[in-house]
Amino acid sequence: MILSKQVGVYLNQGHCLFKQFIYNSFLENGFDITPEQFLVMDALWDEGVLNQQQIADNIQKDKNSVTKLIDGLEKRGLVVRIAAGTDRRSKNILLTKQAEEIKAKVVEVALHAVEQICNDIPQKEITRFVYVLDRMIKNMSTAVATEKKVQTTDALFDRLMEDYRFREGLNACINCGTCTAICPAAEFYKYDPRGLTSIIQSRDDEAIEDVLKSEAIWYCGECMSCVSRCPRKNAPGLIIMALRNLSQELGYFTESEKGRQQLALKRTVGENILNYGYCIHPHAFDPALHPESGPITKWVDEHLEDVHQRLGSNLNGEGPGVLRKIPQSALDELKAIFDATGGTERFEKIEYHSKQKAAEMGISYEEYFHQTTVKNSKNHSDKTL
Ligand code: SF4
Ligand code: SF4
Repeated sequence: MILSKQVGVYLNQGHCLFKQFIYNSFLENGFDITPEQFLVMDALWDEGVLNQQQIADNIQKDKNSVTKLIDGLEKRGLVVRIAAGTDRRSKNILLTKQAEEIKAKVVEVALHAVEQICNDIPQKEITRFVYVLDRMIKNMSTAVATEKKVQTTDALFDRLMEDYRFREGLNACINCGTCTAICPAAEFYKYDPRGLTSIIQSRDDEAIEDVLKSEAIWYCGECMSCVSRCPRKNAPGLIIMALRNLSQELGYFTESEKGRQQLALKRTVGENILNYGYCIHPHAFDPALHPESGPITKWVDEHLEDVHQRLGSNLNGEGPGVLRKIPQSALDELKAIFDATGGTERFEKIEYHSKQKAAEMGISYEEYFHQTTVKNSKNHSDKTL
């Protein structure tokens, strides 16, 4: 391998292994915290109280990533958010008593882990290594500083405005409520397109972040009934599409049950399109993942070929007919369209963020997928159905 390539490969490999090694060390000593969460705690141990932006600056991560780290620490009872001053949306982050109690041991584990990584490497070489790393970091810092500036000024509302669906769907809402009155989803779910439109128009990023993490944005059926009724020609359905897009992009969708179900949809409907050319295909249907479908569907699945022959379909056969086999050339075209339009990348992001969430929840990725497919709480409606 040429030297310049080795630098990239080893830096990347070292970075991943370093994080994994430290994480394992914490786990072995009974601390379920990631190295990034440790950095947040370390900053708070040093500074006392910080707000989210100060933590982001301190550990050189973007504010959205810090939000997720703080969420994880809060769930573990290691930090709390408290209101900063009179603005209830502005929060300071504080370590809990539990976090103060484990400080000495956690720091000791971290230092010991680094000692193990440096084991049997002479001090002189470590010093030289630190010097070289420092030089590399300085060489990269200008580019990273520019990128960071772009990220931090990239507010959620501004990012939404980059989406043509959002720009075209959002005009001056007069809060008349016609969209909510006509919306079929509002009839069944705790869902109010008028309310959502109103929140978005506030341009309040913290409120928008709450919306991106909410169940509400996954209730819309995209029927577009709202569009034709709105006196201001707003399109709440289009706004919802843009919100879903950003929620998937940033990983916020994993914070809600309906959002987490995006993984199930990606693995079923999404992958069926690429593998079969159909959203739903009998060969891809697993009755075990759909207990709600009942014993008849299970029986049909067990007698698939026979049932489809009797119904006259051409299940996976050549030539015309219902459920005919889609030629490989057409499937290849579909894949090329997904690649070119960002669909493939979106699928990868859904997998990536879901995997992170499974780790945060402390369950295997297999179990996480199973839950997103079979579990559905009864909390999505306040109506009697
Ligand atoms: S597109 Fe969504 S918000 Fe609009 S009426 Fe249909 S379900 Fe309701
Ligand atoms: S119908 Fe249009 S103007 Fe009325 S609340 Fe809904 S989005 Fe706003």
